[in-house]
Amino acid sequence: MQRVFLRGYRITLKDIYGIHGTVTDLVQCSEHGLQEETYVCKHLVLSLRTDEVIGFYWSSKPRGDAWCATCEKVRIAEGGSSGDWNERSEAFADIKILCGACYDRVRAINVV
Ligand SMILES: [Zn+2]
Ligand SMILES: [Zn+2]
Repeated sequence: MQRVFLRGYRITLKDIYGIHGTVTDLVQCSEHGLQEETYVCKHLVLSLRTDEVIGFYWSSKPRGDAWCATCEKVRIAEGGSSGDWNERSEAFADIKILCGACYDRVRAINVV
């Protein structure tokens, strides 16, 4: 079953709910329908299929961009513990779009 939708059409909540005026992008998931768009590293996308626990790091906001333990090692190696992502660490993470519900599932798998 195709769970990850990486190339969805993108519309905004504003397109649907006009009055809300938010700019959150949505993604059409083959399993969950129209969902909030989130960004995770390619390894986390893969863990959805394998159920393998590979760690989960994310930026502060709810459903913030997320990456696995290996990406975290690369990020620190490249930029230090408080360092920014750079070209090499970003290339390694190869961030993909994931639907919000799939994101929650990835987090549930990988946060122990
Ligand atoms: Zn990763
Ligand atoms: Zn989904």
